[in-house]
Amino acid sequence: MGLKKIKIDDGISCIQETGVANFMRCNIWHVKGRDFDLIIDTGMGINPLKEWVMKETERPIKAIGTHSHFDHAGSLHEFSCRLGHRAEAAAFASGGRAETMYRGGWTKIEIVNPNEHPDFATETFSVKPAPLTGYLDEGDILDLGDRAFQILHLPGHSPGSIGLYDIKNKTLFSGDAIYNGVLLDTHPHSDKKVYRETMKRLQKLDAEVIHAGHEPSFGKKQMQKVIHKYLNGNNIMSDPVTWFKEISQKGRDPYCDQHW
Ligand SMILES: [Zn+2]
Repeated sequence: MGLKKIKIDDGISCIQETGVANFMRCNIWHVKGRDFDLIIDTGMGINPLKEWVMKETERPIKAIGTHSHFDHAGSLHEFSCRLGHRAEAAAFASGGRAETMYRGGWTKIEIVNPNEHPDFATETFSVKPAPLTGYLDEGDILDLGDRAFQILHLPGHSPGSIGLYDIKNKTLFSGDAIYNGVLLDTHPHSDKKVYRETMKRLQKLDAEVIHAGHEPSFGKKQMQKVIHKYLNGNNIMSDPVTWFKEISQKGRDPYCDQHW
């Protein structure tokens, strides 16, 4: 119950909130650096995250919001250093429900397992305000001392979606711009045309490993497949209510662990 850790290597681990439906379960990335650590995305904020992370490190932490959606920005307010793209500064600052895309069908499905989190209520769930303390934009470099990330602005899913690319290790932290699953371009602030451009850009990126906002990590070949499908008009989520119904009808447990 609470949070669990999937260790990728000595410097990178994935933290997940348990009891959250697996498509919505955000990957919270902890990247350890010589001078400071990064927490990339923060989940829904159902469980205190910072306290948990502090047990793992003594270095300062820079928390990054790859974008402002409710499943990524929930615990951002807990951190004193909060970085993201200025295009979503208003949503980070306000928090809330509709502003963080907790709206429409998303409020009608049981994203959170009532057996594990009986106190969670869809009617009152709201993301706490987490005004950015600094902006990250295309081309910016985050240098941790022993590894460095270049910021890629990857709009489409949302206007301020960013990725963090470690050029030396060919590793991309992609947020929701791309993950190994059905992609989402139907939020009110999504832009399908712009998303296609982002996909074409990612198609040319030499990333070997992609640590995404959802679903297990994947490699170059799979990234090309996901991009190809999207550009052909497939692999796009219709609506959350149908999706949730389909899973339940197949007899699958929507809250079960994914295979890593
Ligand atoms: Zn998102």
